Amino acid sequence: MTRQNDQREPLKILFLSAEAAPLAKVGGLGDVSEALPCALRNLSSPVWDGPRIDVRLVLPFHDEINKKIREPRFVASFLVNHPGEPLPAKAFETSIDDLPVYLIEGPPIPPEEPIYSRDPLKDGEKYTFFSLAAIELISHLNWIPDIIHANDWHTSVSLYILNYLKKKNDLYSSIRSILTVHNLPYMGKDSEEAMLRYGIPRSKDKRLPAWATLFPLPLGLSTADQIVAVSPGYAQEIMTPEFGCGLQDFLMTRKESVKGIVNGLNTDRWNPQTDLALTQQFNHQSINLRSNNKKTLEHDLGFPEDEKIPLLIIVSRLDQQKGIDIAIAGLRACAELDWQAVILGSGDPLLESACRSLEAEFPEKVRVLIRFDNDISRRMYGSGDILLMPSRYEPCGLTQMIAMRYGCLPLARATGGLKDTIVDSTTSQKPTGFLFPDASPESFSEGLIHALNVFSDKEVWQDMQIRAMQVDNSWQKPALEYANLYRRLKEQKL
Ligand code: ADP
Repeated sequence: MTRQNDQREPLKILFLSAEAAPLAKVGGLGDVSEALPCALRNLSSPVWDGPRIDVRLVLPFHDEINKKIREPRFVASFLVNHPGEPLPAKAFETSIDDLPVYLIEGPPIPPEEPIYSRDPLKDGEKYTFFSLAAIELISHLNWIPDIIHANDWHTSVSLYILNYLKKKNDLYSSIRSILTVHNLPYMGKDSEEAMLRYGIPRSKDKRLPAWATLFPLPLGLSTADQIVAVSPGYAQEIMTPEFGCGLQDFLMTRKESVKGIVNGLNTDRWNPQTDLALTQQFNHQSINLRSNNKKTLEHDLGFPEDEKIPLLIIVSRLDQQKGIDIAIAGLRACAELDWQAVILGSGDPLLESACRSLEAEFPEKVRVLIRFDNDISRRMYGSGDILLMPSRYEPCGLTQMIAMRYGCLPLARATGGLKDTIVDSTTSQKPTGFLFPDASPESFSEGLIHALNVFSDKEVWQDMQIRAMQVDNSWQKPALEYANLYRRLKEQKL
């Protein structure tokens, strides 16, 4: 059956997010919120035997979006509950390719504010308003979703409110819900005050710890019909004291409703065969051409142009999560070995300065670029031999998937999505990278020494590169998993 003559009622999904590329993107959530809905809309037979999936995205009408689109279509104006003085909201419609996107405007989403404010109280106000408005919007569309799919703390309140409305208002009674957790520690804890102002009651869910009863993410986790973590590994980890951020016992009570689905990569955007940022495009069959990229990058960085010296790269937010300090200490401990390293990143000033100190200490082998730079990141993926990713925790991680697709083998801590997406050279005959067990410089150094040994055998190395480049990390498989989840939820009796 082609999509055009499929007479079945579509599966209707309202997808809520704080950001979505290319309209408004800060990080990985922005990539997912574009790519997953688009992949869902494109699912068809023989891969997907269900009905057409009508996904629609809802975003705050950020200033950044206003600058990018022309004349969005006015959809509705309505009031958002706010005791004493209901707040006016407006919804507009635009699109990303053929994905419909609703944009919510209102006083708590002021045009001059960035997607995420430096002031967490402002974000609490903004995303509480946005979550309530997104739910209210449904009553102004001639379209009732089967599923509301919320993402992270910013849109979690919508599911909590949905749970109330389901009992009071027929319009909402059959809607099911999913919450995807992209990063558990970010729970929206500074939203309590705003939520009180909107008259949102504390949760009476006895399974929640007392401190969490007015935090957006825990409220979403307690009311979502289904919880998805962005990798199977992370789904397990969030139920342990080490990664559960105090919610592990509560999450254990919801164990049956927690599933892990690895994020995909937009394989059109990240393709070494078409990437114009590279001096030399290549694919797994023309991998020998790749060394031209390394040569140019080494030249531009003032390094000796020598194929035999392994080029280590880091492309990362400079944040505790990412274990940059572990890499710095580990590299220092391995300073006697032959390698060159380039670090691209920005963020925590202390980590920025630790990177600069490493560069000052080893000027002949370390370069540090403190900035966000898409083009240079692409050149690094297309030239580097080893990507260093010593994350303390990593819900999924896209960087390692990009590196693999560009023939740069990851050396990563065996955690969360890194463990799920990298096949380790010490445990498999068909490896795609290197994993080390502990978030410590010692464990990192051991892993690095092993990876450098493998690098010295060009044939083995190239086999690994070719294998890593061919791994299918596209969205098709994860989109199918979400589609099956939606279908199962819709079919479940309430
Ligand atoms: P997270 O979303 O936790 O930051 P991911 O690995 O999921 O980590 O995604 C990070 C994305 O941001 C990748 O696309 C990576 O290339 C990109 N990135 C991170 N830091 C930089 C930087 N300084 N310059 C360019 N791109 C960066």
